[in-house]
Amino acid sequence: MTNTQCESCLMPFSKDPGQRESEKYCSFCFKNGKLCYEGNDLKEFQKASYEAMVKKGMNKYLARFYTFLIRFAPRWKGK
Ligand SMILES: [Zn+2]
Repeated sequence: MTNTQCESCLMPFSKDPGQRESEKYCSFCFKNGKLCYEGNDLKEFQKASYEAMVKKGMNKYLARFYTFLIRFAPRWKGK
């Protein structure tokens, strides 16, 4: 089965504005052959993602919602 969204941040690949390098992760999470955030701290990852979304000009409420959803991504399940 082919993924349709990022396993780390749940962004749909159809919304990914960058060039994806990985089958599993979006162009934000996986760059230059490795995961941009290699840590294991969900909270820390969420904070970085939230800031990145707001920086891109996303509505803050929407960004908070997407940030909340990250905990359900395969990468963070059970954390
Ligand atoms: Zn991602």
